[in-house]
Amino acid sequence: MRVAVVGGGIAGVFTSYFLKKAGVEVLGFGGNLEYPLASLVLTMSMPDPRDIEMAKESLEVYKSIDAVEPVTSVDILPEGVDLSPLRRAGVKYTIVDRYEGLRLERGEVGVITTDYMIPIRRIVKRLRRELGFLDAEAKLAVDGGTVYIKARGKEIKADAVVLAAGASNADIARDIGLRLPFKPYSCYAALFLVPPRIRGLSIGDYVLGWYGRPGLGPFYIAGDGCGRAYSGPPKGYARKIGRLISRRAGWAVPIFAKSGVCEGSPTGGPLMGRVPYFDNLYVIGGLDGYGSMVGPALAKRLASAIVKGSTDEVIEEYDGYFDPCVERHDWGVFFSR
Ligand SMILES: Cc1cc2nc3c(=O)[nH]c(=O)nc-3n(C[C@H](O)[C@H](O)[C@H](O)COP(=O)(O)OP(=O)(O)OC[C@H]3O[C@@H](n4cnc5c(N)ncnc54)[C@H](O)[C@@H]3O)c2cc1C
Repeated sequence: MRVAVVGGGIAGVFTSYFLKKAGVEVLGFGGNLEYPLASLVLTMSMPDPRDIEMAKESLEVYKSIDAVEPVTSVDILPEGVDLSPLRRAGVKYTIVDRYEGLRLERGEVGVITTDYMIPIRRIVKRLRRELGFLDAEAKLAVDGGTVYIKARGKEIKADAVVLAAGASNADIARDIGLRLPFKPYSCYAALFLVPPRIRGLSIGDYVLGWYGRPGLGPFYIAGDGCGRAYSGPPKGYARKIGRLISRRAGWAVPIFAKSGVCEGSPTGGPLMGRVPYFDNLYVIGGLDGYGSMVGPALAKRLASAIVKGSTDEVIEEYDGYFDPCVERHDWGVFFSR
């Protein structure tokens, strides 16, 4: 069996990784490697049990490939938020009403868990090399009911084609007349200097609306926010996030802000499956701002479906409106800020 994969981020390389493990020949087309040097955060503190399960599975996959670093996680939530998904999934957590270095208000709690820093650039780069990915852009084309790939001026036929190009999925599919249920949006983050007491923490402040995690060296990375795809951070963004951090930790010095492009789906979570109308096209996407948590686990399921020729999971076309900024993994979707 031969499978062509379009996209060399978390979704594409891990789908290829599991296909290769199952003995499948993989032809990967990667585009630019877009991950920053800093690690991504993997947390299990999420409200949806499906996401917690995928995060657990993904963590095991990373651990089998590279070193991942545990960090203390503090999620700030309003008192009374239903934490039963964590309990049911066996995630160890402690609830506190004070945490040294962080100011919690009356009616707020800190939920302490363990997060993991995933060196995603290093992992994806290594897998791209080991799996023989080409740093080339690819396009989809159709011959009857079968999809094939065009890259570097060549036509490449395969038993299955996987579209895993992140925020470009919807655009690439549109070339073959397919309207996928994905939308790109900008996610922002900024670099800060913060008090040493919080520098090593992964913080999710779902009350004020920012998250933060250790960056390289003395730097702290914090952000939140969602905007029009491919737009830069709004004016004053880093100062605004800095003010929110200061309310919790006393002070924060903003250095600069950056934006990246994420991809949302109408469910607020990731999707993978076969696409109807074509014999051999599969898609994985909608990894939102939490691709390191759900990506490898979802990729494993997709690779298994392709190998079995399973048609259970189907991605239907979608033409309606949805807000890609609503993310299922965000505790904040359950209460208004
Ligand atoms: C500022 C910021 C902070 C984030 N923090 C976290 C975090 O802490 N934890 C976490 O889990 N997630 C985080 N994310 C989200 C995470 O980065 C994404 O969920 C994840 O990268 C999505 O993976 P993907 O493989 O679907 O897409 P991508 O990572 O976008 O990869 C898609 C790949 O496809 C390639 N491509 C595109 N078009 C083509 C083409 N035509 N042909 C070939 N290749 C193509 C691109 O070059 C790219 O390499 C953050 C995102 C941003 C922007």
